[in-house]
Amino acid sequence: MQEKIKNLLTIFNDTFSAKSIITALSDFLVQNFGINGLDIYIFDDTTKSLRDFSKNWLYIEEICTKSTAASLYSHFEQLKSKTCLEDNKILYYGLYKGSQIIGMLRIDVSFIDTENLLNFLDIAAYIISLKIQNVILSDKMQKNVEFHDSMKNIAKIIETQYELSYIIPLIGEMIDKFVSNHLIYIFLRDEENETYNLCWPNSCRDEKILGLLSVLTPNSDCVMTADKKTGLFPLVTEGKLIGCVVAKSTEGKLNEKEVEYIEQLTNQAATTIDRANVYAEILKHATLDALTGFYNRRQLEERIKQEVSGAKRKNNALCAIMIDIDFFKNVNDTYGHAAGDLVLKTVAHIIKSQLREYDIAGRYGGEEFTVLLPFTQIDAAKIVAERLRKAVERKSIDISKIVADSVTKTIKVTISLGVYQLNNNDEDAELLQKADEALYQAKSSGRNKVVVYEIQ
Ligand code: GH3
Ligand code: MG
Ligand code: MG
Repeated sequence: MQEKIKNLLTIFNDTFSAKSIITALSDFLVQNFGINGLDIYIFDDTTKSLRDFSKNWLYIEEICTKSTAASLYSHFEQLKSKTCLEDNKILYYGLYKGSQIIGMLRIDVSFIDTENLLNFLDIAAYIISLKIQNVILSDKMQKNVEFHDSMKNIAKIIETQYELSYIIPLIGEMIDKFVSNHLIYIFLRDEENETYNLCWPNSCRDEKILGLLSVLTPNSDCVMTADKKTGLFPLVTEGKLIGCVVAKSTEGKLNEKEVEYIEQLTNQAATTIDRANVYAEILKHATLDALTGFYNRRQLEERIKQEVSGAKRKNNALCAIMIDIDFFKNVNDTYGHAAGDLVLKTVAHIIKSQLREYDIAGRYGGEEFTVLLPFTQIDAAKIVAERLRKAVERKSIDISKIVADSVTKTIKVTISLGVYQLNNNDEDAELLQKADEALYQAKSSGRNKVVVYEIQ
């Protein structure tokens, strides 16, 4: 017997998850006692229900028929006053923490004499119970650590970012990573039309969800559907309902703990979005883009107006180059957003270093730049664009200080460019539109190239 206990301890040393415990224990009991099957149920004190330890903690009501579940509860109740009972060749054995019952083993003993097994369990049940408690505890701690990491990350995004189209997907990914057995959707409210737009992920197949959102008000707490599988978590900032995070369980009901976690993540997200809005408002009045030091979009548009009207008036040549980093999303996805930011800064720096003093460079949006070349004909502009393309292509960007644990120390990126020379009959907006059309062609014909807009 002692030998067997020792063996059990040895195999437990190598098991860290619910699944591996149950497999190891089940194999062990099959080999040593010839049992026919094993399940472990743990009592969840917050919801007062039994959960299947090996099946992702599902509530037994969700995996068993009504009568099986009732029978499990009834046996569990009986184990409160005795440690084991046998019913129809099934052995139920209580698992205790001190004198309090925390769960039970359900062992199929169809073909065996149970005496040896019972002797063994008298000692081993205590060890099994301890092992299970440890796993539950470390699961909980792990979840808490991940939760706090997520909260910290959401708070951190705002330090450098303010465009909602950029931060919402980050928030979505983070919540999604944290609550992996639920589908997460983020909707933002369009105030004018009183509708909701899906912002993350790209599509939502469940059309019913959009219909549910109409019940939300700025004062709503989380709203659960009747089947408890879908939760709506309103995004409220300064008393205004700006959107909603939806969590839809792909397995059982959302339990209290999960609801609490998602609620906190949603609140943190709302604060982040709120701060982003304030920051964006401030930045609107600033001239320069914080990350690259280039003109920001608003200032760029101002400068374009001036340059276009000057060029038209004096009949000077004016060219525009639209630039977009190729596959930039991959950089973010592979090396993280800090590395992405460094790439943006570096590309901006390269562009600046290649330009004349009176050329104008601006950050048009995320990873798109605009260059205006006054007094420049299209042929010369094309040469400048080509020079920019080559300079970026050549550059190795050192990310080792930013992604410390990365095996890759330096990365390279390429850019696509569209070039257009203003025609005297053009509307102001056409300068960038046509450069952008050329850029689109550069992208669709292979990237890392310069395309000059062809007049049709
Ligand atoms: P393509 O070659 O077609 O241009 O592919 P792409 O991946 O560059 O294009 P896409 O427009 O899909 O991706 C642009 C990405 O730029 C998505 C967004 O997350 C990222 N981005 C936008 N602004 C910033 C920023 O300020 N910092 C960082 N790190 N990423 C940003
Ligand atoms: Mg782009
Ligand atoms: Mg791009």
